[in-house]
Amino acid sequence: MKAIVVVGASLAGLRGAEALRQQGFDGTLTMIGAEPHLPYDRPPLSKEVLRGTWEPEQASLVRGDNIDKLELDLRLGRRATSLDTGRRRVELDDGSAVSYDGLLIATGATPRRLPGTDGMEGVHTLRTLDDCLAIRAGLERGPRVAVVGAGFIGAEVAATCRQRGLDVTMIEMLPVPLEPAVGADVGEALAAVHRDEGVDLRLGVGVDAIEGDGRVEAVRLSDGSRVEADLVVVGVGVAPETGWLEGSGVKVDDGVACDARCATSVPGVVAAGDVASWHNRTFDETMRVEHWSNAAEQARAATSTLLAGDGGGDPFESVPFFWSDQYDLKIQSAGRLAGADASRIVSGSLETRRFLKLYGRGGRLVGALAVNEPRRLMVMRRQIRALPDFDEAVAAASDDGSA
Ligand SMILES: Cc1cc2nc3c(=O)[nH]c(=O)nc-3n(C[C@H](O)[C@H](O)[C@H](O)COP(=O)(O)OP(=O)(O)OC[C@H]3O[C@@H](n4cnc5c(N)ncnc54)[C@H](O)[C@@H]3O)c2cc1C
Repeated sequence: MKAIVVVGASLAGLRGAEALRQQGFDGTLTMIGAEPHLPYDRPPLSKEVLRGTWEPEQASLVRGDNIDKLELDLRLGRRATSLDTGRRRVELDDGSAVSYDGLLIATGATPRRLPGTDGMEGVHTLRTLDDCLAIRAGLERGPRVAVVGAGFIGAEVAATCRQRGLDVTMIEMLPVPLEPAVGADVGEALAAVHRDEGVDLRLGVGVDAIEGDGRVEAVRLSDGSRVEADLVVVGVGVAPETGWLEGSGVKVDDGVACDARCATSVPGVVAAGDVASWHNRTFDETMRVEHWSNAAEQARAATSTLLAGDGGGDPFESVPFFWSDQYDLKIQSAGRLAGADASRIVSGSLETRRFLKLYGRGGRLVGALAVNEPRRLMVMRRQIRALPDFDEAVAAASDDGSA
């Protein structure tokens, strides 16, 4: 293989390029990134950078000369617009094209927007550094903030805005935030934390319209109420960035559809990170994971598959891991929480804001969630890999048991 192209110059793209060089690939390595920036980390965008305690440079993923050592043909500020898998060419928005023998798709995901808000001043989504800096500049004017969506990104933005002393209303369609993901008890406990911290939480209501003449003035809710706001952050989920693959023959089904080895439906093309859906044999489940550690780990697996050639490579069997920082809470999860048919808090309590909860499915331990218990969560992540018996895992991990 002489030429490899990586589309997407963020976490999965960079880790993929690093892995290729570490695995001895010494051919031409081209990386195409739509943003003008060198690869940077997104988690600080809703935390330290938004809070103003970090400058953007501190979120950079480029340390010293690590990027120079990769000897990349780096095309930043350039978007891949289409893919010709027959001729093995990626076409770019400046009319140029790059040929490849192997291709890593790492184009991540894009936030969903609320209809009718395009171009309205003061209404934001948060995905990129530029999004973050625009919101941060707005926060400096001391606005009344409305956050639409109480998922992890929305909740982090709300927490950060409260830490900046701003008035925050958070609006969530579900009666209990995050209930499908973490269960009602944890969702309610997290809601209580936000209320205690001064967030005006509106649950079980949708957004009917964002009002304002060119600039946001209020959010009108489905219960008829109106939340006055000068700045709105919409955190209602993301969609995998696959539009540029239309007509390429690369199968897309909730992201780029991959087999267990992260290989796509087209030879010589692999995918990793938020854009990739793959069959995770650990859980015997096809999944797409929007977590930092997955992007980093999957990129390594996908590039191994690429270098191994058709049919080669090992399955990417992983136990997904995620964290979220809100106020003084470090929330972490491992494995699969959604779809659990059993769950138990085995240590600590919701009231003390420190606990470990285990999740089971079909009698097996499949997930764990911890608040301010980082070490115990890591132990559980290792255990989940073997899907042990749920009751035995609960007994072993319980404070009153043998743990
Ligand atoms: C604000 C925020 C906070 C987060 N906090 C956490 C956290 O606390 N914990 C956690 O586990 N995860 C967190 N995440 C998720 C984590 O950052 C993502 O899982 C990770 O960034 C995924 O990396 P990726 O490389 O797959 O995709 P992305 O980071 O989305 O990168 C994809 C890149 O591809 C580029 N691109 C897209 N289309 C094209 C194209 N056609 N041509 C060229 N380039 C293209 C994009 O511009 C982008 O730069 C957070 C995400 C955000 C946005």
